[in-house]
Amino acid sequence: MPMSQSFKDCLFPNLSEIAEYYGTPFHIYDEAGIRETGRRLQAAFAHIPEFREYYAVKALPNPKILEIMRSMGFGFDCSSVTELVLSRGVGARGDDIMFTSNNTSREEFLAAEAEGGCILNLDDISLIPKVPEMPELISFRYNPGPRRIGNGIIGNPVEAKYGVSHDQIALAYRQAKARGARHFGLHTMLASNELNYAYMVQTARTLLELAEQLQDQVGITFRFINIGGGLGIPYEPGVAPLDLDALGREITELFLAFNRRNGYAPALFMESGRYMTGPHGVLVVKAINRKEIYRTYIGVDGCMNALMRPALYNAYHHIEVLGKGPEQRSEIVDVVGSLCENNDKFAIQRPLPPLEDNDILIIEDSGAHGHAMGFNYNGRLRPKELLLRADGSVDLIRRAETAEDYFATLDFVPRTLHF
Ligand SMILES: *Cc1c(COP(=O)(O)O)cnc(C)c1O
Repeated sequence: MPMSQSFKDCLFPNLSEIAEYYGTPFHIYDEAGIRETGRRLQAAFAHIPEFREYYAVKALPNPKILEIMRSMGFGFDCSSVTELVLSRGVGARGDDIMFTSNNTSREEFLAAEAEGGCILNLDDISLIPKVPEMPELISFRYNPGPRRIGNGIIGNPVEAKYGVSHDQIALAYRQAKARGARHFGLHTMLASNELNYAYMVQTARTLLELAEQLQDQVGITFRFINIGGGLGIPYEPGVAPLDLDALGREITELFLAFNRRNGYAPALFMESGRYMTGPHGVLVVKAINRKEIYRTYIGVDGCMNALMRPALYNAYHHIEVLGKGPEQRSEIVDVVGSLCENNDKFAIQRPLPPLEDNDILIIEDSGAHGHAMGFNYNGRLRPKELLLRADGSVDLIRRAETAEDYFATLDFVPRTLHF
C-alpha cells in the first residue's frame, strides 16, 4: 500500500517538470500526507488526556520536516548530539525533547543538559552516577529480556543491547531517587516496523504493569510511559496497514483501567519515526542504462547510498514508472545503482514495464530511514531532498552533496605526534 493516492495525484502530473528543474535523483516528501498521518495519530489517542508523539529524528533529520512536526505539537526523540542540535534548532526545549542514547558518552550527557535540557532516558543502571547533574525528571529504558519476544529488525530482547534488565529496574529508580530525581518516566522500544497493533498494545500493558510494581517497590509514581517507535507501514502492495484505531482504543482502555486502580494515569508518549513519514516520501531516479546479460539490469542514477533498506534488510520497496502503468509490467528486471557492491539493488527480479533510458522511476516509502541512512562509500554523494508543499509548490530542503563536501574532512591542519 505504498504511496497514497493523494500524494500520487499531486506529484505525478508535475513530476517530469520537477525532475527537469531540480535534476534527479532526489527524495521528495509530501507535507499534506505527513500532516494527515499526524492528525490520525492524535485522533487515535484523543481520549488519553496527555498523549504526545516524539518524532524519531533519526528517521528523517531535516529541519523543514521537524518544523512540520513541531507545528503539530510533537516533540522529538533524539539519540545523538547532532539530533539534539537539530531539534533545538527548530525551537524544541526541555520536555519537547526525549534523549534516548545507548552507550552514552559524557559529551552526550553534557549536550543533553545544555540549552534548557531535555527528558533524559537512561539506557543502563551504570549511567546513573555518570549523569553530571541528576534532573528532577528521569526515565529509564526497560528491556524485558525473556518476558517478551522481539521482532525482526530489533531482534530478541535477550540479545538486544538496549535498556535496563528486569532485575535491575527497581534498583535503578531507587538509585536515581537517591541522587535527587523526583519525577519518573518509563520507556521501552521492542519492535520495529510492526504491523500487528496487538504487539504494541502488549507493550503498553507491559509498561503499565511494571509501573504499578515499581510504585509498590520503590514508592514512586510515573509522569509518563513511552512505548517507543516501531509502528509498521505496509511496504508491499496488498499488505494490510496497522490498525491505528484499534491500537488507540485498546491502549486507551488500559489507561482508563490504570486510572481506576491508581487514581491517576501517566501521560502516554510515543516515538514513531517510520509511521509518521515513511509512506510520505519517494526516491525519484532516472533510468540511464539497460544491460542484458544473464538477467536484465536497469541502471538508474541513484544508488543504495540514498536508500539502503533493500540492501540492509532485503526490504521490498515498491517501484512505479512515470507514464507506464502497472498493466504494462511485462518484464522481470533488477533495478540497480552504480556502486561496486552487488547488493546495490533497489529491486530484484521485479516485474516492471519495459524500461528505456530517461524513464522516471518512483521508488516508494523512502520517507523514513532513507536519506538519513545514506553514506559515502565508493565516493558516492548523497542526493537532494525536496518537499511537496500542501499548496503544490516544491521546495528544495537539502541540496545534493558535492565533491567539496566529500573532501571537506581532508582540509585540516597537519599534526604529528613524535616519540
Ligand atoms: C529508531 C527508534 C525509534 C523510531 O523507530 P521507528 O521504527 O522509525 O518508529 C524510536 N525510539 C527509539 C529509541 C529508536 O531507537
